[in-house]
Amino acid sequence: LKMTFNMMHHIHRGKIGVIIVVHDVTEEQKLEQMRKDFVANVSHELRTPLTTIKSYLEALEDGIEDPELANRFIKVASHETDRMIRLVTDLLQLSRLDEEKTRLNKSYVSIKEMIEDVVDRFSFKCKQKSIDVSVKIPKYLPKILVDRDKIDQVLDNLFSNAIKYSEKGKITVSVRLEQEKLYVEVADTGIGIPKKHLSRLFERFYRVDKARSREMGGTGLGLSIAKEIVKAHHGEIFIESEINKGTKIAFYIPMSERNVKKGMAINEGKS
Ligand code: ADP
Repeated sequence: LKMTFNMMHHIHRGKIGVIIVVHDVTEEQKLEQMRKDFVANVSHELRTPLTTIKSYLEALEDGIEDPELANRFIKVASHETDRMIRLVTDLLQLSRLDEEKTRLNKSYVSIKEMIEDVVDRFSFKCKQKSIDVSVKIPKYLPKILVDRDKIDQVLDNLFSNAIKYSEKGKITVSVRLEQEKLYVEVADTGIGIPKKHLSRLFERFYRVDKARSREMGGTGLGLSIAKEIVKAHHGEIFIESEINKGTKIAFYIPMSERNVKKGMAINEGKS
């Protein structure tokens, strides 16, 4: 713990005293360090794809005889550009969430439909990787007041991570209502995460395996965005994982009189 001591000689009615003002600068220093790390990370993350693009463009400028090879170079440059766009989009979203200016654009939604949409969106990818998906949703689930696009992004980030960090296996998305909270959990049977990393995973740019994350097109920001969105909805997000067994990420949104549509949206048919 570092502290600054401002010592002031205090003269009052002929008595000489000393006032010691103690500030705790640890928190300030920590924030400053985090800001510096963040800027360094952003610069590095942008520089890497730019360097790649530049070198491929230079090779193309020099002239490449083989049109197939030239095509491949263009594809790599284009792929890297996509990654930069994703990164900048994620950064913009994080900065909006930080400023708390983002008004949540809330409406009553069916979490069941949202989950089914996400599963549909990724069904091709799951098939390609031989990943089975199962969805478990209770039959009676009221509609809940949330920002649809933002919660969709949380589901998208969790589900796409489950696919990214799995080879074959199974992904289970389940919903449960517990003590006025709506829990959504995405569980995979993928590579898992060593225990020592778990507490830091929601930090910006923190990744277990940088190379793997990049290779999979990750920005290292998905979980921190998910956390901010869940926080904006007054919820919390948790992670549990075991190496080589799999990972479970769950979040909840509080259900109150105000954000639940009563007597609505009973899921018809199967759960
Ligand atoms: P990324 O874009 O790198 O996937 P995220 O913020 O979404 O960034 O996740 C941070 C890191 O957490 C990932 O790089 C990965 O190491 C780890 N991770 C996230 N989800 C999973 C998962 N389902 N299984 C294993 N590791 C995961």
